[in-house]
Amino acid sequence: MKRNRLIFSTVACIMLTSVLSSCDDRSVSNLSEQKATVSTKVQGKTMGTFYAVNVVGGYKGGESALTDLAENCFKKICDEISTFDKNAELAKFNEFKSTEPYEISADLSKIIQDTVYQGRRIDEATDITVGPLVNLWGFGINKRNDNAPTEEQITEVKKLVGFDKFELRFDGQKSYLVKKDPNVRLDLSTVGEGLGADAVAEELIKQGYKNFMVNVAGASRSYGVNAEGRKWKLGIEDPTSPAPKLFVPICALDKAVATAGSYRNFFKDEKTGTVYSHAIDPKTGYPVSHNTLSVTVISDSAFESDALDTGLLVLGADRALEWGEKNNYPLATIEYKDGKPVMRHTKQFEPFLKCGTENTAN
Ligand code: FAD
Repeated sequence: MKRNRLIFSTVACIMLTSVLSSCDDRSVSNLSEQKATVSTKVQGKTMGTFYAVNVVGGYKGGESALTDLAENCFKKICDEISTFDKNAELAKFNEFKSTEPYEISADLSKIIQDTVYQGRRIDEATDITVGPLVNLWGFGINKRNDNAPTEEQITEVKKLVGFDKFELRFDGQKSYLVKKDPNVRLDLSTVGEGLGADAVAEELIKQGYKNFMVNVAGASRSYGVNAEGRKWKLGIEDPTSPAPKLFVPICALDKAVATAGSYRNFFKDEKTGTVYSHAIDPKTGYPVSHNTLSVTVISDSAFESDALDTGLLVLGADRALEWGEKNNYPLATIEYKDGKPVMRHTKQFEPFLKCGTENTAN
């Protein structure tokens, strides 16, 4: 069954306050009223998607030093969790076709524990054992296939999916992963962007920077104010627009924002018109096909927002919003209703919609 292949870039929040350029940007307003505001902005590619960093007041060493900082952070994460680089730690574990204990690094062990913890909070809808399904549906390292997998294939592969299909064991300081079936494959793609944004943000905070924005595709961390002295603004995309287009501006208010969407990375069946997104329901083995197009989660860490957003997208808007209210999360969903995008959000999301004109530099 031939399918259209509509492959767009990864879902991204739009930054409203700065058009990124990779050079020092001397946005000098009226010098008599306020000091010149220099910012160092860099952008580039990582994890098959893009990143952007903007440090207000300038970064010591300029954009080459800031690029090095960012890309060193991303390289460490890629070396641990990539399933697209066969030399990465997780990729090597996935190729280990045995149920014997496999020693992993403390960093990878912590990422797995933290992602499993977040997944358990949302009815195991974020499930890192979806790797075989991701590959079967053509969203992993395998080339996109032309035929939707058969019912039998999905049923077969689903036997490798579920929190009970692997175990993390500890022996003193050492961590071991144990597969329950030699063909179990873990996939941490859902948290890569969040981990990347946090890693760069924590580094900048450690070095004493107080006004910056880090964006890795759909996950961002921002702190303090932008070059105009205003709180950083982001935007949630209009999922129905063929090109990235702002739908709702939000203020980041020193928090982490991550959005998972089912509308950018998907297949559309010519024959049936069914849209298969890259967010896969581990319980059914099928990509989500409900009318929730995106879920945006705000929390203190981009990893946490990123680990939750995919699973909440799988659960759909009603369950995601109910969970967000109950667990006190600022959370917004966009659904496709009566031919147009409709946003709903938890009451905790309200303050992030009020992008006032307050100028509060840190
Ligand atoms: P999210 O919703 O954040 O994540 C969706 C991804 O998570 C899916 O693509 C799938 O892999 C997985 N997933 C789907 N359903 C579930 C579920 N229910 N529970 C848990 N996970 C699920 N892509 C490339 O094309 N080329 C590359 O070279 C490449 N390198 C990468 C290196 C690293 C270290 C990482 C982490 C990812 C890489 N990727 C690459 C993948 C790409 O970055 C991801 O597809 C993208 O980050 C997903 O982010 P998202 O916001 O689009 O979707």
